[in-house]
Amino acid sequence: MAWRYALMIDPAASDDPRTDFSETFTVIDPATPALSVGELSTQRGDGIFESIGVVDGHPQEVEPHLARLAHSAQLCDLPAPHAEQWRQAIARALAEGPAEGEGVIKLILSRGVEHGPAPTAWVTAAQAADNTAARTRGIRVVTLDRGYDSGAPARAPWLLLGAKTLSYAVNMAAIREAKRRGADDAIFVSSDGVVLEAPTASVVLRFGDRFVTPEPTGAILQGTTQVSLFDHLRAEGRDVAYEAIPAADLVKADAVWLLSSVRLAAPVTAIDGAEIVVDAALTASFNDYLLSPRD
Ligand code: PLP
Repeated sequence: MAWRYALMIDPAASDDPRTDFSETFTVIDPATPALSVGELSTQRGDGIFESIGVVDGHPQEVEPHLARLAHSAQLCDLPAPHAEQWRQAIARALAEGPAEGEGVIKLILSRGVEHGPAPTAWVTAAQAADNTAARTRGIRVVTLDRGYDSGAPARAPWLLLGAKTLSYAVNMAAIREAKRRGADDAIFVSSDGVVLEAPTASVVLRFGDRFVTPEPTGAILQGTTQVSLFDHLRAEGRDVAYEAIPAADLVKADAVWLLSSVRLAAPVTAIDGAEIVVDAALTASFNDYLLSPRD
């Protein structure tokens, strides 16, 4: 039977001294309605989330995901999450999951109910979609202008570009536009021509022996998968770098990947119709690493 699980959380203050948060959890039926109609996450997308990959019962990179949840909360003026409470909620979801296969655990922290006193929080868990084709055959992408220049994050922090907010309507619209153009996915570029990220993934390029990704300047969400892969590459003695990458350099790369927690490393086979050679062996080694237990 497919893994489907949902747990409501009564969010604790970040300095709550309790060590056992069982009493703050309520298991709910994932198939029945659970949110109030006044919920601001559904009315305005006002909240934050994380998607954690699960491989053979192991949740990948829990601490980096919790650190990013805390960072997003800070950017959005949401109360700081209690890390131990979320760890225990993740453990609850895992205990109900299969010992084998791939899954995804989502952590959601919403502003709460309009005029309500507290944020709303919940965790869901489910079987992951089969991403074998994207990982092996690869994906075609198009570049799309995000409409902001490189100065936008500093000039307009309220755009929340570095936070993983629930407002993904723009990201989903970009993927639909990519499909209209005959591709599978998109790479956003700034209006002044700098490579940013994909709507749900980070971008990594190989130029010769160097692996490069856009600088985490606040214009993008820094990917936990990208950071983990760079740690692995560094440990293997490879050269990795964070740089401002001109959009014109995308097609000059020897290889390009989109990286994210559930799809993992998807090799890019074409950018705006220009074919890119896929390094199948290197891509397979990335995904072998990304599928191994990571903390
Ligand atoms: N950038 C954006 C906009 C994303 O939505 C995501 C993941 O969903 C990523 C990057 C990659 O982040 P991670 O590797 O932590 O999944």
